[in-house]
Amino acid sequence: MTDRWAVQGEAVLLGDEADFIPAWLVVEDGLIVRAGTGRFPGSPDVTVCLPLAPGLVDIHCHGGGGAAFADGPEAARTALAAHLDRGTSAVVASLVTADWEQLMAQVEALRPLVDGQRLVGLHLEGPWLAPGKRGAHDPAKLVSPTPEQVAQVVARADLVRQVTIAPELPGAMAAIAALSQAGVVAAIGHTEADRATTAAAIAAGARGATHLFNAMPELAHRAPGPVLALLSDPRVVCELILDGHHVDPELALATLRLLGRRAVLVTDAMAAAGLGDGAYQLGGLPVTVRHGVARLTDDPGHAIAGSTIRLADAVALAVAGGLPLARAVAAATRQPADHLGLTTVGRIAVGQPAELVEFDWEGRFRRVLRFD
Ligand SMILES: [Zn+2]
Repeated sequence: MTDRWAVQGEAVLLGDEADFIPAWLVVEDGLIVRAGTGRFPGSPDVTVCLPLAPGLVDIHCHGGGGAAFADGPEAARTALAAHLDRGTSAVVASLVTADWEQLMAQVEALRPLVDGQRLVGLHLEGPWLAPGKRGAHDPAKLVSPTPEQVAQVVARADLVRQVTIAPELPGAMAAIAALSQAGVVAAIGHTEADRATTAAAIAAGARGATHLFNAMPELAHRAPGPVLALLSDPRVVCELILDGHHVDPELALATLRLLGRRAVLVTDAMAAAGLGDGAYQLGGLPVTVRHGVARLTDDPGHAIAGSTIRLADAVALAVAGGLPLARAVAAATRQPADHLGLTTVGRIAVGQPAELVEFDWEGRFRRVLRFD
């Protein structure tokens, strides 16, 4: 028997609309099969008055609920559930720097879970990173890209949606060109590149910025560095971690306004997301979470080691900072989906999963609505 629901929403972020509007959906077996603006022609089974958003899409996430994606399918299920609890329907799992063979084994271990709906792809954050901007990555395992390694990623372009790369490394420009030709987004990050090198990387095909501002030289007025190159090129989509710690909240808000459709909110969440303070690990390195901030335990500078938020928390912070709810939601749904070519998530539209997130008008997460 098909399970069929007619849903009337008073405020729905439908398809590519710029704002929340009255709209209706017909859901069958968990999928949206019809949708329209205004009033449902008939009597709906469910009416929702508060804003309805698509399930959120987090394209930079290492784990949650005490588990890390690097630890295999069981851990991945735990992490996905911890994020789904707070409205994140779809996740691109980020794997931190590891020995190459180990990293490829981690990719293959997650292959059975990549379903186009919940786990929608993988992101290699490392090992092609600048040692001087390594953040919480193991310095002993950082390398420059070799053609053989690049070929192994290209062969897995169905799984690996994005790779973070420092363009100043030997072989990086060729890697960027090969990855982008294969449909894998090369994202500039964990880099010491200057503005010109970053611009050359964009010319070679780089289209992303991994957590803009973090793990890269600061924007200085006589040395604008990678930040200016990434901000000013209309082809580049920039990730921002909006957790109140990674980037000054006012700067993050100004950047979101400046970037418009080129902004993507991400969590960079590690295992503590959804769990709380305590001792954890990230890529084999010990991490201490205190007052919700994750830092490397043994690092003299106590580098920040990911966040402990879930994506709905970033939406709430953006709205609290003055961004309209529809724009904050777009930066956490269709913008990340479009950036990585994820066509099966990120919108309330026919053919998409009917997993909707209810917010209040202040941008605070209320609940996930499912119809199955
Ligand atoms: Zn990360």
